[in-house]
Parts: sequence; structure tokens; C-alpha cells
Amino acid sequence: MEVQTDKKIINFIKKRIKDSHNIVAVLGIEMLVESGGCDLDSNDENYRVEEEYGFCPEDILSTSFFNAKVEKFYRFYKNEILGMQQHSTAAYDSLLKLQTQGKLSAVICQNFHGVPQSINLRNVIDLNGNININQCPHCDKDFDIQYLINSKGIPQCDHCKAAIRPGIRLIGERVDSELMTKAAEVCDAADVLLILGKNMYNDRLEYSSAPERKQLKVLFSKNDFERNGKVDFIIRDDICEFLPLIID
Ligand SMILES: [Zn+2]
Repeated sequence: MEVQTDKKIINFIKKRIKDSHNIVAVLGIEMLVESGGCDLDSNDENYRVEEEYGFCPEDILSTSFFNAKVEKFYRFYKNEILGMQQHSTAAYDSLLKLQTQGKLSAVICQNFHGVPQSINLRNVIDLNGNININQCPHCDKDFDIQYLINSKGIPQCDHCKAAIRPGIRLIGERVDSELMTKAAEVCDAADVLLILGKNMYNDRLEYSSAPERKQLKVLFSKNDFERNGKVDFIIRDDICEFLPLIID
């Protein structure tokens, strides 16, 4: 399929990637959608979820909702979050290529399905948690995703019967400050920053580098109204079609 981005821009980014030794990729919603997931933040999904569950996704995925209505939370969580099928794409293959070439220094993941780890990308920073790592809030016992899926109703710790805390960051919780610092550091050091889609948490995470450093920032966004003076290019094409063009 033809991409809409100008050939000159493609060649420019391609050359910068070729010359780069330190690339950081930030994975957002568009990566999740291209991998078979859905954007729960879109109008259609908001409407559908509200019809089906009585609340919008943003309400359900919050700490206050989890604490007050844990049964409803888990009905949604199991169906919509754990039930979301994810597969690797050509975009992930391109990132693996960069890793093999020793150019990819870190992957900052804002989605929480654990796709980067499942295809052996290394140095993954899961800013918003990971659905595969679940814990009992009382005894800290770990539970895998299968335990949650297999449990009827509210998944409970088999030791102390407390409702298991899902491994994702709920809305209303802060990003782990250690992870945030690490993310900021790797972004700062990168000479190319690939921002692959928007952040579902809507909280603005700034990945700025010191102004005196020359860093190429490329943002992928399907939103035609997206304006961002802090990036060099905004690419509207599919990430899985575009990355193979700029990564040899
Ligand atoms: Zn426990």
C-alpha cells in the first residue's frame, strides 16, 4: 500500500536511523490497535462500553472504581482487557531489527499487554504495568494471567482470599517514579526518538531532551488535528507500514 508521507521525509528519517546508535521507541495506542487491540478511549468504544457496563472505560479502570465495585471491575477487565487478543506486527519486526543491529537502547511501553517481552525485545520499561504480573495486596503473592482468567468472578488470593490487584496502573495512580526517571533518562540520551502512538492515560509524559542536543523526534498519530511543536515530524501512516520503510 502507498504511504502518504513524502518520499523526502521518509529518506531523511531513514538516513538518521541508519546513522544513529541510540534509538528509543515509545509504544502507544496505535501500536496496540495495529496488533489487534482496540482503543478504549475512542468515541465508539466509550459508547459501547458504557452501554454494556454502565460506565465508561476511564471510570472503570480507576482506583476508586476498583475499590468500590471490584466485581464489576473484573467483569470488564476479564472481557475487555484480558480478552484483547494481541499479535506481533511488521512494526515489531522492525524494532527487533534495530535491536539486532544494536541501535535500540530501550522500549518504553504505555500499553500493558506485554507484547514487547513476548517477542524478546529487551530493556522494556512498562510505564503502566503489565497484565501478566498480578499481586495479592496483602501477602504480595504473584499470580499469572491464567489464574485471573480461570477464577470465577473476583480473582482472589488462594492464601488470604483478598481480591488480587491487577498488574496494570489504574487511572488515579501515579507512574512509578523510578520507572519515570529511567524513561526520562533513556529518552534524553537517545539520538532518535520514535513515538509510536498516543498515550491512553492522557497524562502528558514529556520526553524532551536538553535543547542543545540534536535529537530527531518522530511522532506517529492518526489524529489529523494533532499538532505538536516539540516533534520534528508527525507521520499519519500505519506504523507497521512505515517502520519497514525507514529501517533496513
Ligand atoms: Zn494473599
